[in-house]
Amino acid sequence: MKKVYSFRQSDLSSGEHCLEKLRRKYQTPTPQVCTSDQVRGNVSHAAFEAAGKMLLAGREPTLDDVYGAAQWSQEFWFPQVDDWRQPQERCEASIQANVEGWFWDVLPRLNPTGVEVFFDHVLYETDTVQVRLKGTRDWDDAELGLVDWKCPGRKPTEWELKRWDIQSTVYTWALAQETGEWDAQDFHRVAIVEGETHWLTLRRGPQDWAALEDKVRGLVELLEADLSVWPVSWSGWWCSPKWCEFWDDCRGKHLGANPW
Ligand code: SF4
Repeated sequence: MKKVYSFRQSDLSSGEHCLEKLRRKYQTPTPQVCTSDQVRGNVSHAAFEAAGKMLLAGREPTLDDVYGAAQWSQEFWFPQVDDWRQPQERCEASIQANVEGWFWDVLPRLNPTGVEVFFDHVLYETDTVQVRLKGTRDWDDAELGLVDWKCPGRKPTEWELKRWDIQSTVYTWALAQETGEWDAQDFHRVAIVEGETHWLTLRRGPQDWAALEDKVRGLVELLEADLSVWPVSWSGWWCSPKWCEFWDDCRGKHLGANPW
């Protein structure tokens, strides 16, 4: 029986920041603190998804429909927030602005063939392991290909994403698996910040997918080695009590809960 390794793109992105964080996430999953930043994204996504499902059912969504879906999702998510990183009213205003910005600037360009499309495909196999990549694509579009929503607190840095965004590589690879079309494809990353939309098209193809396989092979070899710790990385925002769920049991053991 082969050992199965299964990664989400978010696991791979964690490894970019700190390998030890990836090892812990993979080997000892820990419930994550629910933050208002995540909930701002979840609620906006739920509203966009509802609009997409209406379009798939042959109905043109109105702004009230999209607001209504956001309101419903907000009532579900707000009571679950553990860490309000901005006042609740501020978060609510951002969601409303995002929904409105998306409705007027983005929706008219879209023609979905699928929303929230789950995938789980084999990247490679050896005699002893099967390695899979899985995830959920926000939006498959008849004209555009893949489209994904982000609702960050500030405008993304585009040159960085062009060089090292992993999600675009994983998701285009997954689509190629399904369609059998192995030419380079576009991944449209649409960031909506306080209602302002920032549209970035990333093109990924066979070279990117080959490099992805090399990257994952390295991680699988490390996991197979069953080491008790992997190299840690302190040099970024991610290594802090606010952003790393393993802080208390890792660097925070020595530095305490609030070192700076
Ligand atoms: S606390 Fe820092 S070093 Fe430890 S897992 Fe988290 S990011 Fe890595």
